Amino acid sequence: MQEFPTDAFIAGRWRPLSRRFPVVSPATGEAVAEVADCGEAEAREALEEAVRAQKAWAQATAYERAGVLRRWFELILAHEEPLARLMALEMGKPLKEGRGEVRYAAGFVEWYAEEAKRVYGETVPSQFPHKRILVRYEPVGPVYGITPWNFPAAMVTRKVAPALAAGCSFVLKPAEESPLTALYLARLFQEAGGPPGVFQVLPTSDPEAVSRPFLEDERIRKLTFTGSTEVGLKLYQEAARTLKRVSLELGGGAPVLVFRDADLERAVAETLRAKFRNAGESCVAANRIFVEAPIAEAFARAYAEGVRALKVGDPLAEETDIGPLVNEAALRKVRAHVEDALARGASLVAGGEAKGLFFLPTVLLDVKPESLLFREETFGPVAPLTVFQGEEEALRYANAFPVGLAAYVFTRDLSRAFRVAEALEYGIVGVNDGVPSTPQAPFGGMKRSGLGREGGRWGLEEYLEVKYVSLGL
Ligand code: NAD
Repeated sequence: MQEFPTDAFIAGRWRPLSRRFPVVSPATGEAVAEVADCGEAEAREALEEAVRAQKAWAQATAYERAGVLRRWFELILAHEEPLARLMALEMGKPLKEGRGEVRYAAGFVEWYAEEAKRVYGETVPSQFPHKRILVRYEPVGPVYGITPWNFPAAMVTRKVAPALAAGCSFVLKPAEESPLTALYLARLFQEAGGPPGVFQVLPTSDPEAVSRPFLEDERIRKLTFTGSTEVGLKLYQEAARTLKRVSLELGGGAPVLVFRDADLERAVAETLRAKFRNAGESCVAANRIFVEAPIAEAFARAYAEGVRALKVGDPLAEETDIGPLVNEAALRKVRAHVEDALARGASLVAGGEAKGLFFLPTVLLDVKPESLLFREETFGPVAPLTVFQGEEEALRYANAFPVGLAAYVFTRDLSRAFRVAEALEYGIVGVNDGVPSTPQAPFGGMKRSGLGREGGRWGLEEYLEVKYVSLGL
């Protein structure tokens, strides 16, 4: 058997297409594989198949659906190494982070294998003695999903596992940079006994052409998207024409607030993780770090030291902490943000330059709030530090932006922790925690960061319709 699949996965079969597109390693610039390039014809075929397969899947017992998910979970865990290597190859994620992502991705499949069995209905007391009110939950129907390249495994399972648990079928269009991980997950789904058409994967170099049939068709009842706010807004409008349910996980730009009463060592360690995990290419990455004046110098010193210890290099090497950025456009953006901050009077204490697509982990001090680094999501290994005076100013800085995905707070004062967490206009708040994402908890944003939640019971509700049955006795 071929080491990893490169064909489209439609109706439970691998479809070798003559049209192919290259997946290029950002670390070496070399092609890793030529992948089937789906177009409108394949999209229409997958759509019909998803509609057909959904009916039987919805009628399977919750135990049957849970069984498939459970076996898929076990297979994903058993293939941790090849999946981590594929991510290193196709988008440059360091191996050790890739292994962590595979476990995180598998965690969603495990969680929803269990939750599939707990989609309880409800009965509600009626005001009439001769009536009974029954509420049941049903799958919304066939789902179309679009995922980004930065977490090629976890963004897939976080959507597909709850949809399948609920009884929906799912057609996935992975990012053009990282289709190989998605196809490998599809192979494991097939091995797990997943029925044909329940989960299909359409790699493509033309996301618009493949997406159009799904967006236009009334029978696709839900769109779930993770990616940029710009594309998310466009898809939201298109999905409105057929009144689809929509989940949007969009751009972040997380603030970090380090208060004078924080455990400094812990704040430094957690903020390093919150910033430099995945080379900063994460929607919950710390984008703006605000430190209260009395500890600003000590924090900056310890932080810069931590940053200098990070190992940049080959994503396939065991010791690497930071791999390459995903492509030239990403590099240009990171560079422009650093140059803009320096031009506005920030000072550079570490990094600041690139070798190929490898941008050295960077720390900037005294970054002005009007800098691009604060106004846009950098999506790179750049930590801008700014000093604040008091809680009010900290909150003003943090809430001044139109995004609201994740925010981080460091303090040992319990009252402050509650006060600040409640005042932050963000969907996720990590208090003394730089990596809050986990399969059991709701993940998602407020304001321009999106709609809906993934993970936990909230993630399952996104794929369920509520049906009320009034029973006259
Ligand atoms: P992007 O929006 O360019 O691409 C994301 C996906 O959308 C890809 O699969 C792409 O092929 C597809 N796409 C692009 N244009 C499309 C169109 N017109 N029609 C249909 N599909 C289209 O995003 P990106 O820059 O590749 O990814 C990074 C972004 O994703 C960042 O903004 C990041 O914050 C966000 N993100 C958010 C979360 C979250 O959960 N909130 C998680 C990861 C990434």
